[in-house]
Amino acid sequence: MAEEIKKKKVVSAADAKTVTKAADETKKAAKKVEDATEEAAGTVTGKKKTEEAKPVGNAKGLRIGAVCLWVAAIAFELVAVFTLFGKINITFMNTMTFLIILIVLDLICLVIGSQLWKKANHIDPASKKNKTKFWLWNNMGLIVAIFAFVPLIILLLTNKNLDKKTQTIAVVAACAALLIGGAASIDYNPVSAEEKQVAEANITGKVTWTQYGKVYHIYIDEDTWCQHLNNSDTVKVGTVEEAIAAGKTRLCKTCAHNHNLEGIEDLPLGGSGPD
Ligand SMILES: [Zn+2]
Repeated sequence: MAEEIKKKKVVSAADAKTVTKAADETKKAAKKVEDATEEAAGTVTGKKKTEEAKPVGNAKGLRIGAVCLWVAAIAFELVAVFTLFGKINITFMNTMTFLIILIVLDLICLVIGSQLWKKANHIDPASKKNKTKFWLWNNMGLIVAIFAFVPLIILLLTNKNLDKKTQTIAVVAACAALLIGGAASIDYNPVSAEEKQVAEANITGKVTWTQYGKVYHIYIDEDTWCQHLNNSDTVKVGTVEEAIAAGKTRLCKTCAHNHNLEGIEDLPLGGSGPD
């Protein structure tokens, strides 16, 4: 009998332990739900429109396209230069109109070419190990912009054949084109081959981004969104490679923090530090 009681005691002690454990677990679960609710309150209040990312293009094809457009831009500049030197006689319109049309065509070809080049750099980035190539690859658009307008501006300024009004308007137009073309040709979010490699190796799941956003976010499912995505945003969902190709070169810092991926967004590679 005594033994039975002892046994019962042991059993009830064990029961008590189980109950405590269960209570602990319930508390933990409740905390989790609470956390999730808190997170949800700050993040999701509605369904987002999601879109599949466009397939990543062919870097080589884009570079060829860029170079062809840049050559066309320089060709329009050369036509303007020949016109200034009187090698081309314009009979169907006045010289000022002709020069402005050439400057605009020059600008259009430059800007489209630079966009193709930037896209190619995001699909097939240069390595930071070769600093000269890395710099050249990322600044090529700006260099072409200088070549596409600076010689023309100098010749316009020094030209003696043009009347004052035509000269002034052409110089202003060419300077404006240089500024617009230069600004549009700069890659404000360059990426290196090393950064792309590390991101792709560490983020194997899907990521999400918006059209005008600069970063990409970790994508879990349709109900879990990063707090930095607005409800009105149509978000694209795809791979890291597709995000980078779309010009979103870095992982959002909040996402990096929440998913233990800190350091991905600002790699110390190449010794240039975070930027
Ligand atoms: Zn995020």
